[in-house]
Amino acid sequence: MTTQIDRANEIFQKISEIATHGSVEVIAASKNVTLDIIKDVLNNTPIQVAGENRVQELISKYDDSLRWDFIGQLQTNKVKYIIDKVRIIHSVDRLNLLETIDKEATKIDKVQDILIQVNTGEETQKGGLYPKDVMAFAEDVSKRSNVRLVGLMAVTPLWGDEAELQKCFDTAYNIFEQLKKSYSSIKYLSMGMSNDYAQAIKSGANLVRLGRAIFGERV
Ligand SMILES: *Cc1c(COP(=O)(O)O)cnc(C)c1O
Repeated sequence: MTTQIDRANEIFQKISEIATHGSVEVIAASKNVTLDIIKDVLNNTPIQVAGENRVQELISKYDDSLRWDFIGQLQTNKVKYIIDKVRIIHSVDRLNLLETIDKEATKIDKVQDILIQVNTGEETQKGGLYPKDVMAFAEDVSKRSNVRLVGLMAVTPLWGDEAELQKCFDTAYNIFEQLKKSYSSIKYLSMGMSNDYAQAIKSGANLVRLGRAIFGERV
């Protein structure tokens, strides 16, 4: 039987073969996965962080011996429930969310690391800023004392062909490079999931969010 630990180790082997530009961090996208299984992976593989995409699910699983990122769409009125629990919020894409994170972080005397979410395919039904709006938003982030911009999270169309996907990855990479020139805190380009992480890493991603590739198919 293939376990999540075997799968995670195979993924690291594969990543080490394709990541020629430096190290790649893997986040275990752990929606619908029990805390026991998440613990098993974080305690027995090089994966150090779990990523949850729903506030309620994060709260119900939260264990302060593990590290957690928030990777899903975030409503402003829920920020207060997760602010003391997360390492990085990956999905910051609008001013009122930024302001709320800054305010809630200030209350607990924390500087919250965030990524700007960019909607590379400019799909109207998806969250994320359009590429042309990212630099101006980064400037807004830099004006707030209790948030720190550490990079970019790219969302890409699910049904595109490889060439279309490549265009999206390249768009994200170019913005990432531009951000790095302006802000010394920029560290992460988060793009790539189970079905496209190899291509994402070849395109410059240094953080990938993997669910099915680690945990298998699940409801
Ligand atoms: C579920 C999820 C992933 C992982 O998706 P897989 O296809 O299972 O690898 C990555 N990012 C976000 C925001 C997710 O919700």
